[in-house]
Amino acid sequence: MKFLRLTEYFEQLEATTKRLEMFNILAELFREASPKEIDKIIYLSQGQLLPPFKGIEIGMSEKLLIRAISDATGTTTKRVEDIFKQAGDLGKVAEELVKGKGGGVSTDKVYEELMDIAQTSGAGSVEKKIGLLSNLFNGVSSREAKYIARFVIGRLRLGIGDPTVLEALALAQGDRALRPELERAYNLCSDLGLVAKTLLDKGMEGIKKFRIHVGYPIRMALCERLPSSEEIITKIGKAAVEAKYDGFRCQIHKEKAKVEIFSRNLERTTHMFPEITEAARNYLAVKTTIFEGEALAYNEATGELFPFQVTIQRKRKHGIEELAKEYPLKFFAFELLYADGKDYTEKPYIERRGKLEAIIKKNPVIEPAEMFVTDNPKKIYEYFEEAIERGLEGVVAKRLDAPYAAGARNFNWIKLKRSYRGELADTIDVCIVGYFRGKGARARFGVGALLGAVYDEETDTFKTVSKVGSGFTEDEFVQLKKILDEIALTHKHPRVDSVMESDVWIEPRYVVTVTADEITRSPSHTAGRDREGIGYALRFPRAIGFLRTDKKPEDANSVKEVIEMFEQQKKVKVS
Ligand code: ATP
Repeated sequence: MKFLRLTEYFEQLEATTKRLEMFNILAELFREASPKEIDKIIYLSQGQLLPPFKGIEIGMSEKLLIRAISDATGTTTKRVEDIFKQAGDLGKVAEELVKGKGGGVSTDKVYEELMDIAQTSGAGSVEKKIGLLSNLFNGVSSREAKYIARFVIGRLRLGIGDPTVLEALALAQGDRALRPELERAYNLCSDLGLVAKTLLDKGMEGIKKFRIHVGYPIRMALCERLPSSEEIITKIGKAAVEAKYDGFRCQIHKEKAKVEIFSRNLERTTHMFPEITEAARNYLAVKTTIFEGEALAYNEATGELFPFQVTIQRKRKHGIEELAKEYPLKFFAFELLYADGKDYTEKPYIERRGKLEAIIKKNPVIEPAEMFVTDNPKKIYEYFEEAIERGLEGVVAKRLDAPYAAGARNFNWIKLKRSYRGELADTIDVCIVGYFRGKGARARFGVGALLGAVYDEETDTFKTVSKVGSGFTEDEFVQLKKILDEIALTHKHPRVDSVMESDVWIEPRYVVTVTADEITRSPSHTAGRDREGIGYALRFPRAIGFLRTDKKPEDANSVKEVIEMFEQQKKVKVS
């Protein structure tokens, strides 16, 4: 496909405000793509060169882009900057200044050149990157230049989430019912390009046979919640009860001496955990394996866990080795997903656990998570109380006969956390879809409240549940304004469902954790709306912490969960 053709699709996608239309445009694009290029087309449409876990970045700032536009068009950087000041979008600047006939280059070629730019590193790389990009601009038309410019600085903003791609892939095959199969493959590799390529190369047969690839993160299983240990046992019967550690969730992939670690958000975080990488290399009785657990700072001398504030210091680029000496981490392994050619995700919990314990050799870093099996709610409760006392977050109960449900949140795992009076039993993660400018003193910061939405898995949309105006410091409001304005839109995003009109709409990209007093029924929000138009809302919501950079929009809590929490809250009240 010619790159010009792809940009025609981008233009259509940008113009639409309707979700179904968005699916149809994408489906048409996928039908037109060849097996050789479908992966690249998907990556580019999502504003990336490879899935995030590959950790590839273009590494170009606005400043470098301005220089490349200037070099390519013989315009002074001063003039490029002036036009930028007026237009506010470097895409438009490139569109105005790049005047080539273009249209001749293929998507493959553009992708290859962008990849070259990304892979240029080391001494003199800045100049080389500018040179490569300016060359690329020289061979393209205004419209192509507009999208290339936006792409290189991460401002493509088409807002195409992974579920949207899956839906459109199924539609392109002419059958929406194929989505669950495609989703299964995606859950096993987290790479939509690979899934689409397999589909076009080998058809649905290939998708049905799709297996785990070591080195490609498996989308992580998550917990449902219940308010008491009695309800847990009623729901799943005899269960394995594990400590809920509050650290970094890690999925470790080991293939002989090669070890990679992925975060909850499926980003490659190997560099953060040198001691765990080393232990995985040396103390496992298997050649190839994928397993999961929680990494956290642990005080060897006292046998106590350090609070999360200590563990989180690992989230940095430099000085990791020193930190590893000062606060070494321990890794509590709780799941085995793959071992020497065998897929364990399909095996029942108890078999996975047995094998996990068997493959960990004695060592100072990796050990199996605390676990016991019981059908006695009292035992769970006692352990829960003790766990809280020791600084753990609570417990996770796991169904003994359940498989590892990649990419799913269901009752195979149930968490029990402390609930406080006047507070919801758990926090809610909402995706920001817009903001209000605020009145009075707040108006100073430009942002007075955020419009938060939960995710509706069925329709792949975001439905509003709360206006969040407290919990942020003044400084955070100022930062929010800057960050959110970068992804502001002229209209409500097609995947957002709202009756409230926010002052500024933004692309659904950031998640914040919110606590509230309770969940109420409300006509102002669309989450869980019934026929009378009454949805669910948070009462007295307040943000905890800042943006959750470890969560994607689809990782926000779901409409289904909000309704469940509402039901649970009713139960707690009457008892
Ligand atoms: P939370 O903010 O409560 O961690 P979450 O949406 O990230 O919410 P949950 O599904 O609530 O995730 O809980 C699962 C998380 O708990 C995992 O991602 C993992 O990091 C952590 N965890 C700690 N101990 C365990 C355990 N024994 N088994 C599974 N997950 C555990």
